[in-house]
Amino acid sequence: MRPGTVSLVGAGPGDPELLTVKARRLLDDADVVLYDSLVSEAVRDCVPSSVERIDVGKRGDGERTPQAETNALMVRRARAGDEVVRLKSGDPCVFGRGGEEAEHLAAAGVPFEVVPGVTSAIAGPSLAGVPATHRDHASSLTVVTGHQDPTKAESALDWTALARSVTAGGTLVILMGVGRLPDNVAALREGGVDPETPVAMVERASHPDEFAVTGTLDTIVDRAEDVGIDPPAVTVVGDVVSVRARVSDYLRAAGSARSAGGPDEDSPVSTE
Ligand code: SAH
Repeated sequence: MRPGTVSLVGAGPGDPELLTVKARRLLDDADVVLYDSLVSEAVRDCVPSSVERIDVGKRGDGERTPQAETNALMVRRARAGDEVVRLKSGDPCVFGRGGEEAEHLAAAGVPFEVVPGVTSAIAGPSLAGVPATHRDHASSLTVVTGHQDPTKAESALDWTALARSVTAGGTLVILMGVGRLPDNVAALREGGVDPETPVAMVERASHPDEFAVTGTLDTIVDRAEDVGIDPPAVTVVGDVVSVRARVSDYLRAAGSARSAGGPDEDSPVSTE
């Protein structure tokens, strides 16, 4: 039998209107969609009811599906002739294991394609009024995982180098960084970043309950705790965050359902 194709598809940050046209078409035409737990309900609802849906994020027992199991499932279904959509939040190749899955599919001889998605690393800040780069504020962009312990010798990240890139005027975006926010902030401080450097955190970007908070390297840990920032959230560090204050009054929030009627005390957008 001719194998089907596996499409490694980016679902974007949550709002189904941020799915690409190609992603929508592939969801319509799929035999089976394998999705991660971070793929929003609203995006899952775009999959026609005739299409089989499998949650490969969490299993019934609450444990994460082992990567090997997901890999094997993709290969098995494609070899059975199915058109498989492997749906991942944001972009499949930004902290989404898209590269690993591509390698696995190639090694198994299964035809595949990659359909890029809107990554939360860039869309999260921009939806909250923070451009990733700006001619007056930042000419470089670094995206890191905040999940690793910065004090560990074997950490894959060089926080001193990251601190230097921020000091040099670059933008630093941290994904998976809510739990270790205090450690990562401390690592940047130790690396010599000015404590007054502005920082923003955007929770559930593009979802109806999107929420953002701003502060400085000095205050963000307390600010995030005060307003109760929970994952998934993206943290952005650098002068670009200062743009937000100049644009936010006119920025239509993704969470406009909650801020209907314009900015007021109930606005999901919270600033210093
Ligand atoms: N491939 C994804 C990232 C997966 S890693 C992408 O390109 O966006 C998971 C991390 O992404 C989360 O811990 C969080 O930091 C970030 N994230 C994903 N969706 C988000 C959203 N809607 N709002 C804010 N952060 C989000």
